[in-house]
Amino acid sequence: VKKSGRGALRLFDAGMSAYAREALVIDGALRGAIAASELRLVYQPIVDARTGRMDKVEALLRWQSATLGHVGPDRFIPVAEDSGLVIDLGAWVLAEACRQLGAWRDQLPHLAVSINVSARQLLDPAFLLLVEQALAAHGLAPQRLELELTERVLIGNGEQVRAALGRLRELGVSISLDDFGTGYSSLSYLTQFEINTLKIDRSFVTGMVDSPRSHALVATIVAMGQSLGLQLVAEGVETAGQADALDAMGCHYLQGYHISRPVAAADLLRFAAQRRES
Ligand code: C2E
Ligand code: CA
Ligand code: CA
Ligand code: CA
Repeated sequence: VKKSGRGALRLFDAGMSAYAREALVIDGALRGAIAASELRLVYQPIVDARTGRMDKVEALLRWQSATLGHVGPDRFIPVAEDSGLVIDLGAWVLAEACRQLGAWRDQLPHLAVSINVSARQLLDPAFLLLVEQALAAHGLAPQRLELELTERVLIGNGEQVRAALGRLRELGVSISLDDFGTGYSSLSYLTQFEINTLKIDRSFVTGMVDSPRSHALVATIVAMGQSLGLQLVAEGVETAGQADALDAMGCHYLQGYHISRPVAAADLLRFAAQRRES
């Protein structure tokens, strides 16, 4: 018993240090990534379920590291959240997304952009000012910026988060609750915090055509969102069947590979042009 106990402990230790080592390597490389221009944003269309019109895009971070190659955000964002680097990364994302929206003023004058914001970033005292500056620098109406927060952001810092969201809403920026239905879902968030949009998590959308339970769950979220006056976005829409079912339920917006993968800025213009022609 003793032996296997120690063995298990050793394995656990080895696992821990492997993760810690990877985090250290990622963090070290990430520190220079902004200055080295290794980061870029890709944009995924969010379309009106009825008309197919692209009203919004979600900006998603990509990192091509000189030393590590392509590293996905699922690997480096958690590391950056732990080290605090996510504040600098997030500031870059905010500025870059607003710059891009400004550059598209002729082609896509009404497009809104949605960016992912982590807890540390939202609670950073400088955040509100950064948002104001980014909008002002490119002459953007605040309504064209949406901030995506996960439920994880809302727990633990209730008062501070409520105050931060209140100020952002006063400014005119929209707030979206990302990955809705996963994690620490509490319906009380919907009344406690000023939220405009619910993003239904991909895990529910994936199963909705085959599983009556997933279908019922999505239908319930849509109906609840509607009665609360919230916008609804379904994420991870991969098939026409899912898109049709969501539209039939009254879900306003669709996002997913069935519509488009996240694409580079230049390709987004091509996508928009095709939509206008069809
Ligand atoms: P998320 O916010 O839930 O973003 C949606 C993810 O689902 C993206 O992965 C997107 O590429 C992927 N996706 C979109 N449509 C489909 C689909 O139809 N099927 C499937 N299987 N996947 C789809 P990505 O770009 O790898 O981002 C992963 C996560 O990393 C994001 O999840 C978000 O939590 C985080 N992230 C990305 N960019 C940023 C950022 O700028 N700041 C912060 N704080 N987090 C970010
Ligand atoms: Ca998101
Ligand atoms: Ca999401
Ligand atoms: Ca997600």
